[in-house]
Amino acid sequence: MLRFRDASQQRKRQCDQGLFRGTRRRPPPRLPGRPSTPWPVGARDSCVGKPIRILLRGWLILLTLFASTIATAASPLVLGETTSDLPMAPHLGSLHDPSGRVSIHDALRAQQNGSFAPLPSTALGFREGAFWLHTTVVNRNPDEPRWLLVQQYALSDRVDVFLRYPDGRIEHQASGDSLPFRARSIPYRHPNFWLRLPHGAPVDLFVRVQSTSSMQVPLWLHTPTSFTALSRDAQFGIGIYYGILLALLFYNLVLWITLRDASYFWYVFHISAFGLVLFTLNGLGFEYLWPQSPDFAQKAVPLFICLGQIGMQQFARVFLELRRRWPLGDRITLVMILFFALLCIATFWLPTSLSTQVASASVFLSIAWIAIAAIVVTARGYKPARLFLLAWSMLLLGTGMFAAIAFGLVPKNFITEYGVQIGSAFEMLLLSIALGYRYSALRNENERIVREAKMHLEHKVELRTTELRNALAQLGDAHARLRESSQRDGLTGLHTRSHFREIYGGLLARARDEGKPLSLLMIDIDHFKQINDSHGHLVGDECLRWAAQSIGQTLRPYSAVPARFGGEEFIVALPGLDLARAQQVATEVLAQLRGGACRTQDHEIRITASIGVHEVDPTREPGIEAALRHADEALYRAKHEGRDRVRVSCAKPD
Ligand code: GH3
Ligand code: MG
Ligand code: MG
Repeated sequence: MLRFRDASQQRKRQCDQGLFRGTRRRPPPRLPGRPSTPWPVGARDSCVGKPIRILLRGWLILLTLFASTIATAASPLVLGETTSDLPMAPHLGSLHDPSGRVSIHDALRAQQNGSFAPLPSTALGFREGAFWLHTTVVNRNPDEPRWLLVQQYALSDRVDVFLRYPDGRIEHQASGDSLPFRARSIPYRHPNFWLRLPHGAPVDLFVRVQSTSSMQVPLWLHTPTSFTALSRDAQFGIGIYYGILLALLFYNLVLWITLRDASYFWYVFHISAFGLVLFTLNGLGFEYLWPQSPDFAQKAVPLFICLGQIGMQQFARVFLELRRRWPLGDRITLVMILFFALLCIATFWLPTSLSTQVASASVFLSIAWIAIAAIVVTARGYKPARLFLLAWSMLLLGTGMFAAIAFGLVPKNFITEYGVQIGSAFEMLLLSIALGYRYSALRNENERIVREAKMHLEHKVELRTTELRNALAQLGDAHARLRESSQRDGLTGLHTRSHFREIYGGLLARARDEGKPLSLLMIDIDHFKQINDSHGHLVGDECLRWAAQSIGQTLRPYSAVPARFGGEEFIVALPGLDLARAQQVATEVLAQLRGGACRTQDHEIRITASIGVHEVDPTREPGIEAALRHADEALYRAKHEGRDRVRVSCAKPD
């Protein structure tokens, strides 16, 4: 049902209430449901590098608005000779058609009956059916017979424009993303229509807007020249923004391929999805990516919002290392990802308006949650999270400023109006730097671990080497002791018989080589058995030790090699001594023994010995056995002839 009202009264009330006041004090007023798209075309959409031009254009528009606002309170929209761009909102009457069935003829009648009310100054939001808008346009500029009407909101499903000329003729054009892109008057991201406006003639302009996303009607009129300049400036701004995004995307893609660090992949995912959301919102997606698919154009917004959120959440998860640093936060993030993934799939079945509303509302929760997670992880001492938080604050600040304009909290200027774009560009840039910082922090940490492990290993190796060296030294000592014990007789400390044999080999060779004499003494204690029998074995041992010591002392001046041959028998090698000299030494030995006595605690035991002397013939006695035999034979004779005497071997060398 249509609700008819007195439009002129309504408009007057609106003026009285100062609803258009802003147009006089500020650049063109914030229209209800002004698009949240980057770089929308308009008088204020100047390029980044041309602030003066923006200011001039803004003032021009202000002046035009000032003039037109006063005029439109009671008169049609007049396009003066100096007008080049004009927002239509202040001149529009509106009519909500919830059923969506109202025809142009119904609308004409309603307008004639004064049922069109002024366009509400508040946002229209998500609305059922269609909105009809009307104004009467009078073109007073003889040089501009054609004007371009632009609906500066890319997501309207369908926009119908009707022009009723004074002769009653009605012209109709249609656009919007439910129709193929080629249906547009000029190939441009926002729906647009060429209006033929004869000089001086009042033309009734009806616009019917229908949308499953939020209902926004920022309609502007442009001269062809002005539109060309504005769209060029807007394209420049868009180029800078997406240029930054693309550069970051490819840079990080290469980093991901080279470094294989998952966070780079999720950053690329996030940046792609975020870029696609904005690309869709500002109509570039429909213009360049799916111009033939109005159906997909309907689903694109909720779909990419969900993908973008999945990318954001997963990137935050990986970057902030939530699983390790905040397991509870990690689980909550996973639930969010699951929610957006399900919503992503459901988008294909749910009504577009519902999925768009749910996805848009969830974005605030999602962004706030990531900020919370970053704060928690920063508080827990993870340094890279600080940069992440700074990056995120940029996006929040930009978005916050954009929202603050809507509530009139901050003045509108280039920075506040394009807060989302500027904030997101800074966010992406800072995140990219944060990734680099995180990578270098990880690398430093790895290097530290490797360094410590190496030092630990080196320390261990050193420890083991020392242990091994000690063990080897101990083994060497043991070996030496073993060798010593095998070479020395335990009781007397003289060489053992086996060791004597070894030494003898060397002495024999030397004697042979040098042609020097070598003699042997075979010494046997006399009646030793009796000592054992009379005083016991311990005393016998004591006497053996004493005898060995006495023999050793006597031999000291000669480089003699004495050894215990076995039992109470001793053998002595005398290198360099011939038989006669050896006999003298043997006599000395006996005299020494005779002159002394083995003193024990209770006894003084006299000891004598018999000695057999033999001079070795190195050429004829190659081994020790023959020499021993000769010495033993001489000893036997000494024993046999009464003991305590020296006898020489008969086998004299030549
Ligand atoms: P002879 O004058 O003919 O050499 O008489 P003897 O008693 O010295 O010779 P015999 O071969 O009959 O006895 C040697 C004794 O030496 C026998 C043995 O008990 C003793 N004897 C051998 N080795 C040791 C030893 O290490 N300690 C002690 N206490 N006695 C030993
Ligand atoms: Mg004997
Ligand atoms: Mg004996």
